Amino acid sequence: MQRHLLVAAVLATLSLLVSGQTDFFYKLSLQWPPSVCGPSQCGSPIPRTFTIHGLWPQFVTNDRPVPPYNPTTNKCTNVTPTAPGQILVPLKPIQDQLNELWPSLLKQTTNVAFWRHEWEKHGMCSDYPDKPHDYFTAALDLTTTYNPLEGTEVKPRQDPYKAIEIREAIKAKLGKYPEISCGKVSNTIQLKEIRLCFERAKPPVVLRDCPTKYSNQCSDDDNQVKFPPATSEVLEF
Ligand code: AMP
Repeated sequence: MQRHLLVAAVLATLSLLVSGQTDFFYKLSLQWPPSVCGPSQCGSPIPRTFTIHGLWPQFVTNDRPVPPYNPTTNKCTNVTPTAPGQILVPLKPIQDQLNELWPSLLKQTTNVAFWRHEWEKHGMCSDYPDKPHDYFTAALDLTTTYNPLEGTEVKPRQDPYKAIEIREAIKAKLGKYPEISCGKVSNTIQLKEIRLCFERAKPPVVLRDCPTKYSNQCSDDDNQVKFPPATSEVLEF
């Protein structure tokens, strides 16, 4: 009897571990273009609203990205995923919205090349491996629904904010904590991306706290983080 219980407990733990490893949530990464664009890196005009970097499946257990599809080493789906070279036709009906909300900011990268990169790296092992239209639409819908700092006290300005002020403003607005990702320009830490996290669903709609508070050049609630106004990069770089 005791042995049966032990076996059952071990099996339950194993299945939890296994399902935990394969289970993911979605991270929507929104970029602040004035912080992304170094000197003459970007075309003009530089957008003055947050734009999409990507919608990323992330493992629940460790907040690492689900690795890209590979037919031999990472066959993450039973269907045949749409190849990056094939996404443009299904994306045609939403291409105008993608151009506006999910542009490549970098002059050297076309919008289509950026979308293909994001599809190859993050879309093919999402819940939409053969539905690029639905995957990109999910990201567009979340972006039009959640404008994380709009209407809060945190606005672009020359004076830096404490990192925690940005996190708390978003928590107060949306009810869940974001991840804040920063860059650095000549010793000034800048707000580069705001990442919002969503429970796995098709489409993802339910916000959850992001497991990671800060990434890249910010790491601490007390970091001084600049949220630069749209024109300041001309002076900065
Ligand atoms: P990821 O692979 O999703 O982590 O994205 C990183 C890659 O995307 C890097 O090669 C970046 O240079 C590129 N990237 C990030 N944001 C943009 C953007 N807005 N426009 C063009 N390329 C970008």
